[in-house]
Amino acid sequence: MINPFILAALLVTYGTNALAFDINPFKEYNGGAELVQTFEQPALEMMVSSIIHPVHEELTVKTLFLVRDSHMPGAELIDDDLIKKVIRGARWNDDPLHFLPEYPRQWLMNFERASELAEQGGINENFDLFYRSHHADLQFLHAMASTETESAQLTRNAILSWIELTYKVASGYIPVQTPFRKLGNFLTPRTAQFVKKYFTKNGRRLNWTPAYLFSLKCTREVMPPSAVGVLDCADTPWLPPKQDVQNIALGSLLHVIQDSFSDSHVTRHPDYEGNYSLIHGRSAVQAFNAYQKQSIRLHRGADSYPRDFDQPLQQQGFNLEEVSAEIISYALSDRKRARHQNRHAIVTAKLKKGLFRLLEPNAEAGSGKYK
Ligand SMILES: [Zn+2]
Repeated sequence: MINPFILAALLVTYGTNALAFDINPFKEYNGGAELVQTFEQPALEMMVSSIIHPVHEELTVKTLFLVRDSHMPGAELIDDDLIKKVIRGARWNDDPLHFLPEYPRQWLMNFERASELAEQGGINENFDLFYRSHHADLQFLHAMASTETESAQLTRNAILSWIELTYKVASGYIPVQTPFRKLGNFLTPRTAQFVKKYFTKNGRRLNWTPAYLFSLKCTREVMPPSAVGVLDCADTPWLPPKQDVQNIALGSLLHVIQDSFSDSHVTRHPDYEGNYSLIHGRSAVQAFNAYQKQSIRLHRGADSYPRDFDQPLQQQGFNLEEVSAEIISYALSDRKRARHQNRHAIVTAKLKKGLFRLLEPNAEAGSGKYK
């Protein structure tokens, strides 16, 4: 039972972060386009709408069905197990320590703690991925700027580096047991620098591998209101099957693409009135937004189901499902190709001049309509 005062404080401060779209880890894929309830939805989380609507998950299923039903290359690899693991990956960016669904209280209390610390500017690279994903320097995992002054180009480079890394893991170019200290052998110079900056700085995580990163499963006792215990990742399975790691990496890549259609995260052309998201017929990037510049309440409006979720794709501009399906198809069919034929460079180039084309590369992080 949680003290109601703590809960109230928690709900007020909740949200100084980049989260969109919503996830719901208490529901599972069951063969259909909509996820079904399998875990009991905790009452506490009912009040936190970010973990109610399985938006990321259903966008992921929609996209995988598109690849499968239109028989795109690689479609033959799509089965229920792959779909479940890609969904897990689409949740990873919001829950990189895999607290959910077993430890919802830890997820929330750690989130609250991170919000408090972030307001004091107290989160640095020594903090774990959960803290950093939502409130600090890893907000590229949600297609957002991490600071108010970050340029669009800087945010985009971080996004493209994350996509390069996850694509190379997902497509089999990087073996899943490669230690981080050797990742540079597989990466472009820019992305090798990115790994140093965000993951291995000061000799940290040198022996981590993609398999470990994407299968982390941790707990951490929380003693409200301000103390948290030591992170315990003893539950992490050390040798998950290769395909599982690849599929989770693919899901994490899709999460960034999906979030880049959230109107509160990225201001895209063409402009429209209203605080909601559209996933069809969108165009180039005007600005990546910074959460610190936004009103939490307004931002949330764009994080539920996109307004055109059930509408047909548009002829003009980018459709989320199409962009994602193309990447999935490349990644799955690259698994069967020789390493030197891996098409990561094609994928990056397409995104750079397509979905992540910048109208103003030097534009500072914005607030969109969510000030
Ligand atoms: Zn996100």
